[in-house]
Amino acid sequence: MTSKPSLTCETLLKQAAGRIDSDSPRLDAELLLSHVTGLGRTSFRAWPEREVTESQVGAFEALVAERVTGKPVAYLLGHQEFWSLPLKVSASTLIPRPDTECLVEAALGLPLPEQARVLDLGTGTGAIALALASEHSGWRITACDDVEEAVELARENARVLGLPVSVVKSSWFSRLEPARFDLIVSNPPYIPDNDRHLGEGDVRFEPASALVSGSDGLEDLRLIVTQSPDWLIEGGWLLVEHGFDQAEAVAGLFRERGFAKVQNLQDYGRRDRMTLG
Ligand code: GLN
Repeated sequence: MTSKPSLTCETLLKQAAGRIDSDSPRLDAELLLSHVTGLGRTSFRAWPEREVTESQVGAFEALVAERVTGKPVAYLLGHQEFWSLPLKVSASTLIPRPDTECLVEAALGLPLPEQARVLDLGTGTGAIALALASEHSGWRITACDDVEEAVELARENARVLGLPVSVVKSSWFSRLEPARFDLIVSNPPYIPDNDRHLGEGDVRFEPASALVSGSDGLEDLRLIVTQSPDWLIEGGWLLVEHGFDQAEAVAGLFRERGFAKVQNLQDYGRRDRMTLG
């Protein structure tokens, strides 16, 4: 009688990576196996022949099957790292992108007072607000989102990380208490509603409310740029993320609204992905 051969990490990873159709099948498989086994990813290389229990194999296969349908790894794990912070994510929020860390970096580079008042519009998981709070304990940071689940998630992330961000339910400025900020930051939805990109990859599983903004993708940015000056101190800053082909249009919106020192800033791929004014 032969017993069932046990499966090793390497065998499982190889099989899974061969089935996953993404930009990073091996990484995806490692993240899922690490989640199921509690083993660090580096251990898979150090000890590829390590055996995995039957129940872990079952749990891993179930996750791989979901990943094969295209479901983002972050939603399967329930968390995503941003600015080295482990953030809880859910299907009601956009998955924080590494590109948006450039926005955080740009905000941290601004000449702001110790006790700056900062507003993060459309915070989702709370990523930008929490990253800023982790760097500046003196900043008084408010974050808002129109989606109730996002508000709750951002609050939970703030609580778990012990970071003092006040999260408010508001569609942009509509339900905020009157205030003046030194800095307003936002990664709003900016994809045109007919964009081909919406049918590909992770975005298929993310909420349209966090991605899509009218026929030119600029509907929300127009509103934010138009209304921000009423919420900024004299000399305050507005910093927004946008698509690589929207830099000129967004800078135009800033100038039309009377912003000075308007400039496009680049992401890690050296594309003009942010505008500051
Ligand atoms: N950068 C994201 C993407 O193209 C979109 C993020 C957003 O709309 N704010 O997948």
